[in-house]
Amino acid sequence: MTAFQRVVVLGSTGSIGESTLDVIARHPERLAVYALSAYSQMARLAEQARASRAAVVVVPDAAAREKFIAAWAGSQPLPEIRVGAQALADTAADAQCDSVMAAIVGAAGLPAALAAARSGKRVLLANKEALVAAGSLFMQAIRDNGAELLPIDSEHNAIFQCLPHGGRAGAPQRPAPGVRRLLLTASGGPFRGRDLEDLHEVTPAQACAHPNWSMGRKISVDSATMLNKGLEVIEAHWLFAMPPDRIEVVVHPQSVVHSMVEYDDGSVLAQLGQPDMRTPIAYGLGFPERLDSGVGPLDLTRLGRLDFEKPDLARFPCLALSFAALRAGQGACVTLNAANEVAVEAFLGGRLPYTWISRVIEASLEWQARQASVTLNSLDDVLALDAEARTFAGNLGLA
Ligand code: NAD
Ligand code: MG
Repeated sequence: MTAFQRVVVLGSTGSIGESTLDVIARHPERLAVYALSAYSQMARLAEQARASRAAVVVVPDAAAREKFIAAWAGSQPLPEIRVGAQALADTAADAQCDSVMAAIVGAAGLPAALAAARSGKRVLLANKEALVAAGSLFMQAIRDNGAELLPIDSEHNAIFQCLPHGGRAGAPQRPAPGVRRLLLTASGGPFRGRDLEDLHEVTPAQACAHPNWSMGRKISVDSATMLNKGLEVIEAHWLFAMPPDRIEVVVHPQSVVHSMVEYDDGSVLAQLGQPDMRTPIAYGLGFPERLDSGVGPLDLTRLGRLDFEKPDLARFPCLALSFAALRAGQGACVTLNAANEVAVEAFLGGRLPYTWISRVIEASLEWQARQASVTLNSLDDVLALDAEARTFAGNLGLA
């Protein structure tokens, strides 16, 4: 796809959304914003819509709509304002757009990401929770509707770059030929070297202070617990049709090697770069061509060394829980994600100690395993289990 692209940015006021607008603005000859969406920060959304000349904005409710209008100053005509979750999915499927950046945080982004897949768009997928909750449905929707799927999560983008793809970005049904393993790198987050006992006292500000990446608060906490890497293992399973035992996590504190693919002949291909999400975003927008992303060169001699370690599963129980959920099946993955979203929100709100995040997830997975097996053949099935798991996790008395 090299023609002019009109892009919908879902979650435009977030960390990924801002980086996406930065890359789009560098390429007016081939990229334009069609629509933006945000859940809060209406003043920022108005600034973005003015600067990018978005035709449409999507806001959550009538109160947000009023705030958006109040924030709209100047002579430019107001964009069309659409309201509510259905409008989000409809905009992702809008005939006026070619590409959709799915950068809403959490399972809340699933319906719109799925709508983009079902309408055959180029889907730039940052919203990993959508794949964790509904990997099979989502990948099938990509296949059935001839959509393109470009992974934006830096690890998966790196793996995609290291795999043979022949210029096509689809939804494979089996592992790429000749591939032995996927090696997902993990920074280890801000608590890599901390004693287990110290972690109980950790504050949201400490958990959100990631050593290498600047990101939204939820994914920053996920990086600290390494549940983020667990979600990414599940994400890699779906994106690359790779069985769990052929996905390995390697701790790499510098976050320069974004991930690797090991082939049957012993070759290991890696993608390296500065830890800046504009690189994978530009790759997704430009594919199969390369675009200037604004990211500067990588100075390897200044860096000096690259380190690699095994992850410590005692310090990071969320990683083991994620592998267990992936092996247990889709119901467990939905539950893992939902329980984590509830627990992280409680932690960020000062209602749950850091070390209890993994306990909430573990108890929720045990609850799910005791339930009669569920069929998750539709978006409604997934959302129903997601809601039940949230209720369970919220009622644990922990949250
Ligand atoms: P963020 O919190 O900075 O931004 C989230 C965006 O989603 C905001 O625009 C917000 O208004 C919107 N939003 C929040 N709740 C919503 C809801 N219920 N309905 C509709 N919109 C809602 O998050 P982020 O760091 O940009 O991450 C976005 C997604 O990308 C996440 O799934 C994250 O895991 C993934 N991701 C992020 C990074 C990164 O570097 N930030 C890297 C890889 C993957
Ligand atoms: Mg990542």
